[in-house]
This record gives sequence, C-alpha cells and structure tokens, in this order.
Amino acid sequence: MKLPIYMDYNATTPTDPQVVEAMMPFFNEHFGNAASRQHAFGWIAEEAVENARKTIAKRINAEAKEIVFTSGATESNNLALKGVAEAYRSKGNHIITGVTEHKSVLDVCSSLERNGFRVSYIPVDEYGAVNLEQIRDAITENTILVSVMTANNEIGTLAPVAEIGRLCSERGILYHTDATQCVGKIPVEVDSMNIHLMSMSAHKLYGPKGIGALYVRSKNPRVKVTEQIGGGGHENGMRSGTLNVPAIIGFAKAIEIAIQNMSGESARVASLRDTLEHQLLAMEGTRCNGHPTQRMANNINITFPNVPADDLMMALKKDVAISSGSACSSADAAAGKISHVLRAIGINDEAGRCTVRIGIGRFTTKEEIEYAGKKIVAAAGRLQKTSPRHQIEKNSKHLTTPITTR
Ligand SMILES: *Cc1c(COP(=O)(O)O)cnc(C)c1O
Repeated sequence: MKLPIYMDYNATTPTDPQVVEAMMPFFNEHFGNAASRQHAFGWIAEEAVENARKTIAKRINAEAKEIVFTSGATESNNLALKGVAEAYRSKGNHIITGVTEHKSVLDVCSSLERNGFRVSYIPVDEYGAVNLEQIRDAITENTILVSVMTANNEIGTLAPVAEIGRLCSERGILYHTDATQCVGKIPVEVDSMNIHLMSMSAHKLYGPKGIGALYVRSKNPRVKVTEQIGGGGHENGMRSGTLNVPAIIGFAKAIEIAIQNMSGESARVASLRDTLEHQLLAMEGTRCNGHPTQRMANNINITFPNVPADDLMMALKKDVAISSGSACSSADAAAGKISHVLRAIGINDEAGRCTVRIGIGRFTTKEEIEYAGKKIVAAAGRLQKTSPRHQIEKNSKHLTTPITTR
C-alpha cells in the first residue's frame, strides 16, 4: 500500500493508464491541428476528434454535433450561463439557480446580476436537496434559464433532474445542469431527462485535466449560446481555439471505460464507502452530511464535533489525503469561512470547521479503506480528547449530572 492514500476523488481523479495510453500517439505522431483542412496531419487529427465527439455524445444519448469542447466544467458553466443570457436576452432577464451550485455557476450569476439580470437562488433542505415546487414558484414570464446541478461536489446530494427538465420543457424554459460529478458514475441521459445544456469535465472521470464539454441541444428546441471565447469560429461558432486533441481523445476513452463498468463499479464503491462510513459514525457525536439515499456513492461528508478539520488533515497528512470541502473555494477556506454548501444545509461555523470530505473511487481498495478508517478514527479521537471545548463540555456534564443515591 502506498502512502498517503488518495481519498479526494471529488476534487480530481488520477488519469486511468488506459487513457494515458490512448492519448500518447496524439502528442508527437498524430500531432496535427484538427482545423487544418489542407493535409493529412490535419485530417487524421480531425477524424480522431470527431470519433471522440461521437463516443462522448453516444454515452449521454446526444448527437456528436451537440458536444462543444471546452477547457473544463468551469468554462462549460460560464459558456452555458453567459452564452444563454446573451443569446436570449430579448426573451427575458431572469435566471433560476440553487444556493449550493459550484462557484463557477454562482460567480457567473453574480456577474450577470451586475449586468441587468435577475437571479433567484433556490434554497435547499437539510440534506442539500432542492424542492421542485420552489423552482416552479420562482418561474416568471421573464425566466429564460434554470441551472441546477445534477450532483453536489461537496455533499454528493442528487437533484431531481428529470423532474426539473420536464418542468422547464413544459414552461418553454431552458434547463442547464452541471453534471461534472456524475457523468460516468450514474446514468445521465440528456434526451429522456429533458436537459438542454450540460457541463462535464474529464478529470473527474479518470481523464486528463483541462478538457471538458458543454452539451448544447440542437433540436426540440434548438438552443443558442453566444460564444464567450471568439476567434476562428471553431466548435460551430460556440468556442474558438485550437482543439486539445490528445485531451479530447483521453476524455472519450475515459467516458467509455467509466460507462462500460458503471453499475459494477458503483456498487463496489458504495460498499467501500458504507464500510468506512459505518466505522466513522461509530465515533460518538459524528454526523454525515448530504442526503441519506439520494447521494453519490463515492462521497462521505462528515462532521467530527470538536475536531477542527485543519488539525485532522494535518494529523493525517502522511496517511490519508482528505479535504475540508471543495477545492474550488479555497479562498473561502483561507479566510476561515465555511463553505457555502455547508452553510446552506444549516451547519453552523463551529461544526463547519469540523467537517471533512472524503472521496473514494476506482483505485480505492478494501485494504486502503480499512487502513484509512483506523487512522481517521484514531486521529479524530486524539484531537477530540485534547480539544479545549471538549474539556469544557466534559466538566460541565459532571456538574449538571444529578447526584443519585441508592
Ligand atoms: C470540479 C467541478 C467543476 C469544475 O470543473 P473544472 O473542469 O475543474 O473546471 C464544476 N462543477 C462541479 C460540480 C465540479 O465538481
């Protein structure tokens, strides 16, 4: 067993060796520019890209021309929201989203608000779930877009995507979903779920970093997005720039592997997760966050009372790599603020600072789970005993316990 054990699969995943192998020839053998129409180098690159596009499209039940390659889900979210806002401005200026969205959705929403758009932020319940009725109630005649993520990256809670899609379709509103955490892990079908735009990222599904895609529906209805990166008119005029051919090949290979093994792998991961979760929950006072059932199988978000997450991560640094939430809001963490997701599900600052995220995946073994479980329990137990707050609570308990005589 190699230490430290990686348990932060929600932040990124290692690139699968088969993916690396598929990418290799496209660095120095088939290195052509996929937009070079005049010679074989370009044709070979273009053909490989188009095959990759078909593979990715097929795996989400879309058509190849509906896949727009981007640099990752951050850019896909930017393109979806800003692109739709610009293209549909004459139809309306109202957007609906959720309070627990990824920062790349929330930040774009704030910038749209500064530019004359109105954004409704739908709250979530204690499990992090949005309520369909609240979305329905927020819709006005000016609503052009609803953006609600498929699975949350901190607590794993799933949204009722198909129901939101149906509602939006009925009301003639576009539905965008950030499916970065779940493509390749649970079935996601853009057609049957009435999804109009969908963000994905390769590095969350064992592909390379720096490549992602935005699915943009081409019929029923045909969706327009205004390009945010202009230039040569690549990607049907929706995103310019020379395509990252090796990364695109890797993305396609990654999604193929993930979806071929999806049901078996998700059962295996769920069973490992449950083993670890039980072990951690056996500690007094610990509590798991996120939905008890409607949740990704690879995620544990857990609060250890009186155990500051920073101290726990430090104590574990030689053994297990876990995180204190989202890698994407590290600015918040540096400022000592708890994540917007934990706050949204009603966790106070004190408990929030004692909360960690554990993400497991394809290369996690049973042996690693057992080792990590022991190490986390031991470290958390040690820190809990020495925490000043724990001492105070222990003493006050003694004082308030009634003295009984028999
Ligand atoms: C990781 C992640 C992103 C950002 O993806 P990048 O490809 O790293 O830009 C966006 N949304 C969610 C839900 C994520 O988990």
